[in-house]
Amino acid sequence: MSEMQSAGALRLLSGLWLTAFALLPACERNAVAPSPGEEPVHIVIYLIDTLRRDRLGVYGYPRPTSPNIDALARDAVVFDNAYAPAPWTLPSIASLMTATYPVDHGVLFLGQQIGEGLSTLPERLGELGFATGGFVVNPTAEASGIRRGYDHFGVKAGPLFVGRWLRGVGAGPFFLYVHTAEPHAPFRPPAELVQRFGRVQPALHQRITRDTELLLDLLRADRDAGLAPGTRDNSDQQDTARQRLSRDRKAIDVLYDASVAWADANLGQIISLLKEMGFWERTLLIVTSDHGEEFFEHRGVGHSQSLYAELVRIPMIWRFPANQAGGIRVDAPVTLVDVMPTILDYLGRRDLTENDIGRSFLDLLKQPDAGAPEEPVVTSVRINRRNYYRPAKEQRGDFNVSVVEGRWKGIWNIEPDSFELFDTEADPGERRDVASEHREVANRLQQATVEWLHARPELDAGQGSTGDDRLDHLSPETLDRLRALGYVD
Ligand SMILES: [Zn+2]
Repeated sequence: MSEMQSAGALRLLSGLWLTAFALLPACERNAVAPSPGEEPVHIVIYLIDTLRRDRLGVYGYPRPTSPNIDALARDAVVFDNAYAPAPWTLPSIASLMTATYPVDHGVLFLGQQIGEGLSTLPERLGELGFATGGFVVNPTAEASGIRRGYDHFGVKAGPLFVGRWLRGVGAGPFFLYVHTAEPHAPFRPPAELVQRFGRVQPALHQRITRDTELLLDLLRADRDAGLAPGTRDNSDQQDTARQRLSRDRKAIDVLYDASVAWADANLGQIISLLKEMGFWERTLLIVTSDHGEEFFEHRGVGHSQSLYAELVRIPMIWRFPANQAGGIRVDAPVTLVDVMPTILDYLGRRDLTENDIGRSFLDLLKQPDAGAPEEPVVTSVRINRRNYYRPAKEQRGDFNVSVVEGRWKGIWNIEPDSFELFDTEADPGERRDVASEHREVANRLQQATVEWLHARPELDAGQGSTGDDRLDHLSPETLDRLRALGYVD
């Protein structure tokens, strides 16, 4: 075990994990070390693109957006401090699939692919004898090379397509990755779901869609012209588009809630399928997201623009076979980088994680009596190579790293070399920077972040990303779908 991994293991044993166990009677503690047992176990990752944690009932949202997720959560381990390693799809998904941070895998803009030197989760599970099926609707994820390692890969993720694959999967274990995008703008939820959350007249809905597309056009104007971001400054036009969207904020909220409810209903259908087909009792189902969405909390809208809570705090719910460990809530910070090592650890193949940077969080379930002081944990990295917006550029630059320690969350803005600090207990929305009031905490967290960045292991030759921002390896269908979501012209 490398020094870095030892440090990682220590981090895992932070005191907050132990509070979860302290709440359980001693006689139940054995029940919180989930293990797969004798029969084959199926692994399902159900990722809902752009799903904010705080819009789900299980995380305190008062509107009924998530009946299926809430019911699932009652039988599951629920992580209260889960983070996306990046604030937009491509680097976040590459992190999930390779157990490395964006600074390690280097998949940072469209056209880049996960390097051959990094093995991916479906590749490893395939080696272990799993049938592997990927159903991914977000074309940026598909474009990043996550197709690799799947026996079957499709770009539609509805129950019809997943069900067809499940029916032919055979008797052995399977790994199913479903990546849906109902809450991704432009929002198109079914009308009956919109009515459940409020009124949005068709003309208003159309205006919001048009303004969203206009803003996306402005954000990619430089790249479309073959120029580096920031070459031409259209920030004033962006401001106008944002102001227009800001005026429709209430309606956008309704559309987003309806879209979350739509995603929840589709997840419910997949769970029903797994039950009807007899897989449920042997399935580990992980429900999560790749990042959130901003609705003007920090004067922006959409995603990728910062590392604040609305963009990087994500839902993370693990329902183990036979509801093992069900009902536990975990406070300690985890990220998508930790998912792959945890799955392999759960399968008894921790040996396969030795090159990974993520950490299995099963340790915490296995060693409830161990303890160690809390340490800062780096959660997310933003390296912006896409969108130029002068106020954001001046305030935070294009390279940011966020870190958490207990109640504190810090963001190091590397280019201006500023450090923001938030007290997430008093201020979960991260609106008030308290770095000047808690200088000692800010300095400690910034120092830890600097050390983390300097200690990034050098990747072996062949690892990291390949390709550049040319898109000529993509199929015409993928390019069409990227266009529809506003990523390319
Ligand atoms: Zn996404």
